[in-house]
Amino acid sequence: MRFDESQFTSRINAVFKQNGFSSMLKRESVEKFILLTELMLEENEKYNLTAITEPNKIILNHYADCAALAAILPKGARIADVGCGAGFPSLPIALLRPDLTVIGIDSTAKRVAYVNEAAKRLGLLNLTAIAGRAEDLGIDPKYRESFDVAVARAVAAMRVLSELCLPLVKVGGKFIAMKGKNAQFELSEAKRAIATLGGKISATDDIRLSDPDEELIHPLIIIDKKIKTPSAYPRPFAKISKKPL
Ligand code: SAM
Repeated sequence: MRFDESQFTSRINAVFKQNGFSSMLKRESVEKFILLTELMLEENEKYNLTAITEPNKIILNHYADCAALAAILPKGARIADVGCGAGFPSLPIALLRPDLTVIGIDSTAKRVAYVNEAAKRLGLLNLTAIAGRAEDLGIDPKYRESFDVAVARAVAAMRVLSELCLPLVKVGGKFIAMKGKNAQFELSEAKRAIATLGGKISATDDIRLSDPDEELIHPLIIIDKKIKTPSAYPRPFAKISKKPL
């Protein structure tokens, strides 16, 4: 055992309560978060999964942060987590919301193998991770415009990220980006890209979280998919990054 499980249990219960997420946190979800934390810390050196290794910080910055997203996802939705890395937000949202079907997508095969292993150990039958590039899946008829919601945390600037995510979303669905402190600037740069790809800005909001030691503000950008993405998009990544829309 790498950390104090009873301290972890009290802390996650307290932080979820403080931030209004208690109703999603069942006793078995706490046990799964313990397993996930142990696994992530054990495998961190091998897979380079997270820079945050202190359990209290993991609870706020990874688990509560993703719980804020889990709280707003539509019931029964099929979700693409683009650039899922070590499984954020895919692992916590699948754990907290068994009604969702979550597909993690990442170009790094070893992180995808880790996410699939974590999902198996946690018994999360509603999460599968796929090794691949979002822009390749976006032109694959099996995935294109097949998701109710695409989410992404810490993957790319908004005008690049929009071309990776919006082609995967059904008309009537949403793309939700968890951004950093440059969110408003990135959004102003991405307006044309979002419109070209069939999206419309629906809302920008700040996730505000706190625990007994710190506060966390995480800007969210929510885009509605209004019309189909033109077949010219997404382009190969070299073009997306060299000539963003
Ligand atoms: N979302 C995770 C999080 O918040 O902890 C991981 C963030 S990590 C900084 C960005 C991840 O995006 C990396 O694992 C990288 O491999 C993946 N990525 C970047 N571009 C991608 C693309 N075009 N398609 C799929 N994955 C991509």
